[in-house]
Amino acid sequence: MVVRFSHVGVSPVGMAHLAQQSIMARFNALSAMISTSTPAPAASNFIRNVVEDDNRSGKWGGRVETRFPPEPNGYLHYGHAKSICLNFGLAEAYGGVCHLRFDDTNPEKEAQEYVDSIIDAVRWLGFSWQKHLYFASDYFDIMYACAESLIKAGKAYVDSQSADEMRQRRGTLTEPGIDSPYRTRPAEENLELFRRMRAGEFPDGAHVLRAKIDMTSPNINLRDPAIYRIRHVSHHRSGDKWCIYPMYTFAHPIEDAIENVTHSICTLEFEDQRPFYNWLLDALADAGHFPRPLPQQYEFARLNLTYSVLSKRKLIQLVEEKHVDGWDDPRMPTLSGARRRGFTPEGFRRFAERIGVAKSDSWIDMSALEECMREHLNETSHRRIAVLNPLKLILTNYPEGASEPCKAPNHPLDSEAGMREIPFSRELWIERDDFMETPSKGFHRLAPGKMARLKYGYVVQCTGCEKDADGNVTAVLAEYLPDSKSGTPGADNYKVKGNLHWVSAAHAFVAEVRLYDRLFINPWPGRRQEGDAPETERDFRSDINPNSVRVIRALLEPSLRAAKPEERYQFERHGYFVADRYDSTEGAPVFNRTVPLKDSWGKPL
Ligand code: ATP
Ligand code: MG
Repeated sequence: MVVRFSHVGVSPVGMAHLAQQSIMARFNALSAMISTSTPAPAASNFIRNVVEDDNRSGKWGGRVETRFPPEPNGYLHYGHAKSICLNFGLAEAYGGVCHLRFDDTNPEKEAQEYVDSIIDAVRWLGFSWQKHLYFASDYFDIMYACAESLIKAGKAYVDSQSADEMRQRRGTLTEPGIDSPYRTRPAEENLELFRRMRAGEFPDGAHVLRAKIDMTSPNINLRDPAIYRIRHVSHHRSGDKWCIYPMYTFAHPIEDAIENVTHSICTLEFEDQRPFYNWLLDALADAGHFPRPLPQQYEFARLNLTYSVLSKRKLIQLVEEKHVDGWDDPRMPTLSGARRRGFTPEGFRRFAERIGVAKSDSWIDMSALEECMREHLNETSHRRIAVLNPLKLILTNYPEGASEPCKAPNHPLDSEAGMREIPFSRELWIERDDFMETPSKGFHRLAPGKMARLKYGYVVQCTGCEKDADGNVTAVLAEYLPDSKSGTPGADNYKVKGNLHWVSAAHAFVAEVRLYDRLFINPWPGRRQEGDAPETERDFRSDINPNSVRVIRALLEPSLRAAKPEERYQFERHGYFVADRYDSTEGAPVFNRTVPLKDSWGKPL
């Protein structure tokens, strides 16, 4: 069964008025539903239906060519993963190709660092663009030629109004715009001015090239949109070759047409741009620049995820103001952060499949993403033992200085994963909360007089504890039952409820472990909350979780000393952990907690 979260259909506007509790209950119910469902084959969605219709009608001769077109002005975030899985996934499903195209038409904000990180992230997600790696800046000559064609056809003009004058004449949603006094300039004059703009004769803002469509259109995007502006800045790829740059809305359709894209898929905020997309390509096809059929734009709902912000502008703020330790901080909702956190590409793909693709906006709860990661990690991670909050356990009847191996499976569901040996000895570390001097009702772990099994080892009976001057327990005392070792015939004679994990104190390996939690305390960072005054303006930064990380020194089973960067494990009873890809060194891995075993959001770290 595939549960599509988009059906939750909670609009962001209505959200502030709804009790958070009830929404969270719905999200949780849905999470529970998906966690019991098995991965389903690719579900249908409206974009797949379009592709299948086109294949049936022969519109593209069976060709499916999509593109993922990031602007290299930041690192990719979880929302981009949805778009990547959709675009590359369609190409995979229908034997097509998906281009990775950098939409680098806005030189002020773009940089090579971002290009590199985007390439890394798409590759990490496991998709291939084959030979189709493109840069919009490589098309600047063609775009310029397209603009000249429009001018010659009387479909574009140079406007010399100031930005303010243009704004005043644009009109509003309810009032039509007013024609620019320069709108009737003859084509030859426009062409000459445009060429002089290109030659660098004018300062920034002196003129813009505008499409000549309709200043009275009810769609403001058709009121003679600007298509070229003067910007005397260097571009990270084309250097100082250009001092005029195309506007995104002009460049994007041309990029699609140059690359023979069939289905140009974007997020809903571009819906109102579609008429201009079609107008432009139609005009350029008339002028002989591109053959028909022309690429067609389709819009889908962007990913909105609770407890996170998915906007490059806000992510840049988090980095620059040092609320986090860089773009790839494991708490950041970036793909490089996800990778360090231990999230998996398969988890993202599973998530994308499950949330589906819809035409209206909705919110997905973070726990749905975490559950997809947890499921994949459960299937693939080897098990290991780690004591995060240690308390000494002394087995007073076990010989001093002796030790013996205990055997533990690497994966309980995969016998081929084999076994490993864990040393057992007289002094062990257990979790502090696995002992209670005065046990509460239903407590089945260690307490004076009580028996519990040390998993993969022996059954022990607690005889008491040692305390310091302040009354804090410093060690638990117990006796082991020599005929109770796991895997031996005698083990079955003991029926005990408690099953504790442990590491041998003499053999334990001490490592830095970072326990991460969500970066925000509010499901909708920056949005008004229940109880806020109506005029309250909240800044998303005021919702940053002050306790989103806790760094501890944990005691790990000795085999973990050899963990390599990016190896992922389940620490039994604790959750999934990954050896940090940057901070781990040979023989000294540092671990990041990816997700706990169960949703434990809000509990102390
Ligand atoms: P942001 O809103 O974070 O600044 P953007 O849309 O400006 O992102 P682009 O680099 O233009 O970022 O995005 C590349 C592609 O990823 C676009 O096709 C865009 O529609 C898509 N995309 C961006 N954010 C999301 C999201 N939250 N969910 C799904 N797709 C997204
Ligand atoms: Mg964008």
